[in-house]
Amino acid sequence: MTFERERALICELGRRMWQRGWVAANDGNLSVRLPEGKVLVTPAGVSKGFLRPEMLLVVDLEGRVLEGVEGFRPSSETPLHLMCYRVREAVGGVCHAHPPTATAFACARLPLDRPILSEIAMTLGTVPVAPYGQSGTEELPRAAAPLIAEHDGVLLANHGAVTVGADLEQAYYRMETVEHTALIHWRAAALGGGVPLTEEQLAALRPKKE
Ligand SMILES: [Zn+2]
Repeated sequence: MTFERERALICELGRRMWQRGWVAANDGNLSVRLPEGKVLVTPAGVSKGFLRPEMLLVVDLEGRVLEGVEGFRPSSETPLHLMCYRVREAVGGVCHAHPPTATAFACARLPLDRPILSEIAMTLGTVPVAPYGQSGTEELPRAAAPLIAEHDGVLLANHGAVTVGADLEQAYYRMETVEHTALIHWRAAALGGGVPLTEEQLAALRPKKE
């Protein structure tokens, strides 16, 4: 089997997504950018908690299957992943899930953009909401592309969230940060909204550009 290390990583992170309750039934998908314009992606119709390495598929950037075993086809959300790789050359991994609190913000079409949490100011910055695009169609990547160009985490209206990273592990951890941030925003809202950081405090937290 090709790309054994990448296949093992996807299976491990799929298990963590499922254990964390970010995906119901066969929801969610993960991918890794491979050399020579190839992408390793999770199959449709399988719980992310029970992936096996051989179930994963190698596709090209147009979504054509290059490698895969009988009975498995690429996730219906593969176009969303391919868009991230096309828009951002430095992206090496993509994570898509429906974490409940972040997804509630996506359903309410509320961005995670109030600067109340110092940790997110230092890492992800703001998490915007992409306009609605139907799942499993080209409409979804088209709606999210302009935001993915500028953000490492994006909420998908009435659907879920997508995160990108230099590798899949970083994309996965960014999904943890998006969900954690949504939970804190929600609880802070119950306490009156939280006190925003000042511009000066935010400037000191932001990662310095090289
Ligand atoms: Zn989805």
